[in-house]
Amino acid sequence: MNTNEEISLSRLQQIVDDWITGIGHGYFSPLTNMAVLAEETGEVARQMSRLYGDQTFKAGETPDLADELADVIWVVAAIANQTGVDLTEAMRRNLVKKTTRDLHRHEHRKTTSGTTDNCDQN
Ligand SMILES: [Mg+2]
Repeated sequence: MNTNEEISLSRLQQIVDDWITGIGHGYFSPLTNMAVLAEETGEVARQMSRLYGDQTFKAGETPDLADELADVIWVVAAIANQTGVDLTEAMRRNLVKKTTRDLHRHEHRKTTSGTTDNCDQN
């Protein structure tokens, strides 16, 4: 893999599959990967609580939110691969759903300063 290439969702799924079936010697079970996803999501939460919340990092710890988000994306791609989900198509459908369903849903969130409050966005 060229480390400077743009990575589409389909390319990501292929890269993850190549890695898992090669270096990784095969997929974990879907339920194990679900547990890994929960674990990695927790690691994102840990970063967020320390970077933007009230927690602090331990001495010597290096913040790396980007790496933890990448871990989440990796395992999402792995789960998609082993369950037959085409993430590109799934995202296309999801964006249409969100756009049609929520076209006017968040209009109330605009403030006079142009910023928004903290309502949910999913
Ligand atoms: Mg991680």
